[in-house]
Amino acid sequence: MSETVTKTLQATLTTPTTRKEQRLQRLLDTYRDALHDAFDAGANTMSAVNDVVTPYDLPYQAKDALKSYVPKLRKTYNAEELDDQHPLRLVNRAATFDYSAEREHGFVWQVPQPGRGTNFWIPLRINPEQESLWFDLLTEDATAGELRLQRHRTSWELHVTVEYAVDEPTNSDDPTYIGFDVGESALITGCALKRDVPRKPMLVSGSRARHLRKEMFTTLRRLQSRDAAEWRMDERFDHYQNALTDIVEKASRQAVEYARSFEDPVIVLEDLSYIRERLDYGKFMNRRLHAWAFARLQGRIEDKATEAGIRVEYVNAAYTSQTCHACKRLGRRSQQAEFVCPHDDCHVSEFQADINAAANIANRVNPWGESVRWEPERDDSPRDGSACDSATVHRETSPRPGQMTLSTYSD
Ligand SMILES: [Zn+2]
Repeated sequence: MSETVTKTLQATLTTPTTRKEQRLQRLLDTYRDALHDAFDAGANTMSAVNDVVTPYDLPYQAKDALKSYVPKLRKTYNAEELDDQHPLRLVNRAATFDYSAEREHGFVWQVPQPGRGTNFWIPLRINPEQESLWFDLLTEDATAGELRLQRHRTSWELHVTVEYAVDEPTNSDDPTYIGFDVGESALITGCALKRDVPRKPMLVSGSRARHLRKEMFTTLRRLQSRDAAEWRMDERFDHYQNALTDIVEKASRQAVEYARSFEDPVIVLEDLSYIRERLDYGKFMNRRLHAWAFARLQGRIEDKATEAGIRVEYVNAAYTSQTCHACKRLGRRSQQAEFVCPHDDCHVSEFQADINAAANIANRVNPWGESVRWEPERDDSPRDGSACDSATVHRETSPRPGQMTLSTYSD
């Protein structure tokens, strides 16, 4: 059994020669003129767009893309005006690529041009993470969709939508649930639960991401105070965001490899809306970057799990850091990143806090397929033990956002 997954491949064109650069720029400018012309003319059918764009000196792949894109602008996206920075769109017949290991940059793209025999090849710097998908595209194991070409200051970026089949996850009778906790001190903590018993955990340190974030704020603040040019700020921001993206790629790969080391794994992640609430503190930039990094981290774990045929479940993760994974009652988190269970009849007294949280996330999966909503019995008296076993009880009310704080994460 298989299902279809859609992804976007990203590549940067290697520095084009002046002549090629001029031709790329002309292509992009002409496309934007045609796009604005068709939009302003109110063309809302393919034939109406065709009438407007026919005289333009554009390859048919760009005209065909305009014919399907422009009518959608008003109908689907409710666009009232266009900005000037639209990428060049091309239909999938522009997806002509070639590969040779002999070249410095193995992959090359044939840039479509108007007229016959005028197309030219340009080498691509691909995202190495996506190499296998680029090969799938050449062997037609993956199908190309739309292409988008955009200019960012001096660089040209190509995005190619691809579709490919993946194995459908198998449903097993005895799965291993693997909970992942994302946070600041540890970027990811993974803990597998087999029949309720935590197995060897995995941990990706958050120190590099934390360091980068601090460095970024200092640098951007300094540039700001010096009234640096906007492009310089953008460039630094891109630099840090790329570095974070790199960390996210590596961490998500490690997480899925960890999950794969268990039999019949099912990955369990926190519902993102709760993470956002948990992060609702501090400076806006701080929050935004966090939300971005955490959302991206979870998204990439899900992508990679899907490729590996591993099922992913989302659960409400409220109180996962304050609950004991063994007896399911509330405890507290100590200064030393230890979870402390205060109940004498529980075999847990202290447990690494992030691992405890990850085990709780894995625990929240309802084996019958629905995510478990959970609230302590009496949230104003969190330590009376009355919440015992309530993790398995369904409740209709959703948790109050104010109750989820980051106070347990002292940085
Ligand atoms: Zn306990």
